[in-house]
Amino acid sequence: MSNAPAAIVVGAGIAGLTTALAMAQHGLPVRIYERAPELTEVGAGLQLSPNATRLLARLDVLDALGEHAVRPQAVALMQARSLSLLASMPLGDVGEARWNAPYLVTHRADLQSALLERARSEALIEVVTGAFVEKSELSKDGGARLHIRRNETIEDICTPLLIAADGVWSHSRRLIRSSVRSRFTGYIAWRTTLPMTAAKTALGDALAADRVTAFLDPAFHLVAYPISNGRAINLVAILPGEVPLDAWAQDADDAPLKKVLTRANPSLGRLAGAEGARWTVWPVHAVTPADAWTSPQGLALVGDAAHAVPPFAAQGAAMAIEDAVVLARLLARTPGAPAPALAAYEAARKPRVVRVARRGAFNRFTWHARGPVAFARNLVLRRRSEEALMADFDWLYGFDADAPQNL
Ligand SMILES: Cc1cc2nc3c(=O)[nH]c(=O)nc-3n(C[C@H](O)[C@H](O)[C@H](O)COP(=O)(O)OP(=O)(O)OC[C@H]3O[C@@H](n4cnc5c(N)ncnc54)[C@H](O)[C@@H]3O)c2cc1C
Repeated sequence: MSNAPAAIVVGAGIAGLTTALAMAQHGLPVRIYERAPELTEVGAGLQLSPNATRLLARLDVLDALGEHAVRPQAVALMQARSLSLLASMPLGDVGEARWNAPYLVTHRADLQSALLERARSEALIEVVTGAFVEKSELSKDGGARLHIRRNETIEDICTPLLIAADGVWSHSRRLIRSSVRSRFTGYIAWRTTLPMTAAKTALGDALAADRVTAFLDPAFHLVAYPISNGRAINLVAILPGEVPLDAWAQDADDAPLKKVLTRANPSLGRLAGAEGARWTVWPVHAVTPADAWTSPQGLALVGDAAHAVPPFAAQGAAMAIEDAVVLARLLARTPGAPAPALAAYEAARKPRVVRVARRGAFNRFTWHARGPVAFARNLVLRRRSEEALMADFDWLYGFDADAPQNL
């Protein structure tokens, strides 16, 4: 890379790679430091709603994602106990025409590879893997100093702008927040992928191969959707629980999951125990979006580092992608003087992420409802027209983070 980077990005997850691509699109050179020697991702899927895919398309990432992504035709809510349909909202062509971008589901590893492939093809982006940013500090005169461990060597570098995309367990967060730790929500996410045939054997017609299905129960919710060109299904069950360690996926004894799912409906229990199911548990952590995201000295938090939102609205990655595009657009307006752009970024993004977090909390309340609340929910959902269901998502899926009125 010939140009000195305008910014250092810590972390090559969805937030870090998208930020780098968006900055390069505005002619701003970036270097990313990623601690993992190789970018691999354990088996897990990701829903990408139109507010995210419209931005990925402009960064030429959707083409690279290509056939790895599946375009579901609907999202359905079902009662886990009776396996009966509560509501079905169209996606596919109908959703694309309404929100001007596709709703896609994919494997996280496929999105990560598509982003990385695009980043590696950009002359303005340098991706350095196996580089652990073990210390960082803001300088009084502006900018930041980083202490980077790579193999056995240590490097000290200065940057006018530090973009921290280091995820829910961000260390960079301590540079601007007094409370740096993420909060365990009391929920854990159980995740696996299964061959579609095995899932269909367990669930029969209750599982449509071309839609996103959420099975609701007071004790859990289970989301199922196709990935890998429809050959496999991604399953995520979210239920209360305890996982002591701060770590992503861990193998786990799946007996408690099977018990809860079987109690709701034996077919769901068979799904959990289907051949090839290897469940991992993920503690669901949250980071409050209401606290500071930036420092005028030259620091911006993006993605989960700023605001990890529990996955009840399936919007964490989408919010990271929106952050990235907005930050890059604003930085490009005042190159070399990031302070006003950083303030404008925080002001533009915070209300949106707070609203998304509220929607997630509402989903958690209604999806896990019991008794009269569940009864009322079912009544309302069964009576809602497709138009009313879609209209409820216009503010979320129809949003263009890069539109002038949203910056
Ligand atoms: C169960 C579950 C389901 C979800 N489903 C969806 C969904 O359907 N749709 C959706 O939009 N979102 C979903 N999400 C949320 C989404 O996965 C996250 O919001 C998103 O991946 C966050 O990306 P990120 O880049 O901010 O962080 P991460 O993906 O955590 O990336 C951080 C990167 O920084 C690196 N790093 C950390 N510290 C350092 C350091 N000191 N030095 C160098 N590198 C460092 C890490 O190695 C990592 O590569 C889900 C989350 C969960 C838990």
